Amino acid sequence: MIEIRRFEVGYCTHPGCIALQGASFKACKFPARAWLLQNNHQRWLFDTGYAQHFYDHTRHGIIRLYRSITPVYFDTKDSLVNQLQREGISPADINGLIISHFHGDHIAGLRDFPQIDYICSGDGWQKTRKLRGFSALKNAFVPGLIPEDFETRVKFYEAFPRCPLPDELQILGEGFAVNTEKTLLIVPLPGHAAGHIGLCVLTEQGWILLAADAAWSPTNYRQLRGPMAIANIIMDDKQAYYETLNKLHEIDKRHVEIQLCHEGELV
Ligand SMILES: [Zn+2]
Repeated sequence: MIEIRRFEVGYCTHPGCIALQGASFKACKFPARAWLLQNNHQRWLFDTGYAQHFYDHTRHGIIRLYRSITPVYFDTKDSLVNQLQREGISPADINGLIISHFHGDHIAGLRDFPQIDYICSGDGWQKTRKLRGFSALKNAFVPGLIPEDFETRVKFYEAFPRCPLPDELQILGEGFAVNTEKTLLIVPLPGHAAGHIGLCVLTEQGWILLAADAAWSPTNYRQLRGPMAIANIIMDDKQAYYETLNKLHEIDKRHVEIQLCHEGELV
């Protein structure tokens, strides 16, 4: 069984209706979340939220627009590495850092974990690694957030052992086992960004799906109501996004808990 802990690592603001058609234009808070997953002998992270590196690497060039479009609120003391340190967990205690996708608010803290393995989609990385200038901005990718030795430390989930999913998650196809106990399974959740993945986690309470940015609010999948058209600009594949949203809809009906990275208070 996996024990799961959720951390809020900064937030950004933008009008609620960008995340959900029909919500108000009022600016809403969208937290950036990260997770610690542990059993009795291993620990993993899922995403990092914001970190000081985000400010450092969005100061110059066209990528500056990223932080103007979605103003970021973050205090260095709240970085994931610092929050973990306060719990007595150092980067050396972590076995691997799973990256849901390469948007800046999910990878800003990679440099704070200088020795551990990174785990992500090989397909997503191939499509993202060379993006610079406007195409990087359009994909919310901040190249400076990627550590110089990233490619020597990364493991692509596509090569992990394939494993059938439990009934309630089977609509997602098959899983890719992160651990030998098969209690942590990566699943592709395509659409939002290149190589976007989620994580099925077997906890004491049953399976939980960490769905990253496959939705920005439970209303997205409960009412099959997507974000505003303007959000499609950063979307990798709109059709795939809605297919994934339909799958979350079915999983939710089966009462599997779904946790999202940015679930905010929409009005
Ligand atoms: Zn994203």
